[in-house]
Amino acid sequence: MFTPEIITKFSNTPTPFYHYDLNVLEQTLKALKSEANKYDYHVHYALKANSNNIILNAIKQFGLGADCVSGNEILKAVECGYNNTSIAFAGLGKSDQEINIGLDHNIFCFNCESLPEIEVINELAANKNKVANIALRINPNVNAKTHHYITTGLEENKFGINMWELENVIEALKSFNNIKLIGLHFHIGSQITDLSVFKGLCIRVNEIQDWFISRNIIVEHINVGGGLGVDYENPDENLIPDFKNYFGLFNQFLTLQPSQQLHFELGRAIVAQCGNLISKVLYIKNGVNTNFSIIDAGMTELLRPALYQATHKIENLSSSAPTQKYDVVGPVCESSDCFGKAIDLPETKRGDVIAIRTAGAYGEVMANRYNLRELNEVVFS
Ligand SMILES: *Cc1c(COP(=O)(O)O)cnc(C)c1O
Repeated sequence: MFTPEIITKFSNTPTPFYHYDLNVLEQTLKALKSEANKYDYHVHYALKANSNNIILNAIKQFGLGADCVSGNEILKAVECGYNNTSIAFAGLGKSDQEINIGLDHNIFCFNCESLPEIEVINELAANKNKVANIALRINPNVNAKTHHYITTGLEENKFGINMWELENVIEALKSFNNIKLIGLHFHIGSQITDLSVFKGLCIRVNEIQDWFISRNIIVEHINVGGGLGVDYENPDENLIPDFKNYFGLFNQFLTLQPSQQLHFELGRAIVAQCGNLISKVLYIKNGVNTNFSIIDAGMTELLRPALYQATHKIENLSSSAPTQKYDVVGPVCESSDCFGKAIDLPETKRGDVIAIRTAGAYGEVMANRYNLRELNEVVFS
């Protein structure tokens, strides 16, 4: 559980810094494994959510595979000791160099997003006298009901192969000697909190499987991607995502063929709640309609609010005075560098320690040096 002990324990660490609670991560992984194991589901951790070495090691201890979206993520996963036969490689713009990295490491599967990509993988695999396992990433046209910037499974999105292209694709596959079709892959979006969305996905996957079965194609692996959301508003009340209902729903609604294996690629749900961005208040400034609390962390440390209007719970760990309303903003020269408007915080002053919660996913990995700001320290407890 998150406590203000952070203030005393890390009082010598310059702010802003990322704090990870490895105990929360472990509890999350335990819950995940015990629910996924009920059905023999395979879970690959999506490295892009957080690729900190200590986090990657903790996750590996629980036997998860890796879901990578770049050649460097494959190298990172291998370097951290993830089994190459558990590495899936997704992404709609795989470069030749990245494909070669995947081939050299004999990864489990390339999740392919277009016919031109499959042609290139076939050619590069032929150059190495190898056969690449591939899954077709199919765009199921299911609405994830999340922010439109993190919706990926609609026909208007750039991701995946559309249904009307499939006939062509499976016809073309017959002429590729260095490709083996082993799976179907889906990933419809991120931060999905309405579980009925996943039920809709299951129903759609069943229909798509029927289409394949009617053409005598039964693949070994179905991969339904990631996207399970977390509670950004009430992190302490819902520290561990509802893995029970999540996996239970797939068990109930997804029809697997005999000996078919089901795979998941979770990122956010595993690491979001174990991370906090810790910052200090630099100045309080009175505005026209509001007071600004200007903190020393900004969009350079946590891009999500500026990138897709995300909100995080903000806490003042130093004060228990009566609350006032503040716009909590960063120091970066962009108006979108704002963590929250009209937030209730105990009366806040210069030097107060501010925690921005649920920052373990898509936080540190998106840190950048805009305004030539420094990259920050990372602490663990
Ligand atoms: C980003 C991504 C994931 C992980 O998504 P989360 O919302 O973090 O669970 C899984 N699969 C693919 C293909 C992705 O691009």
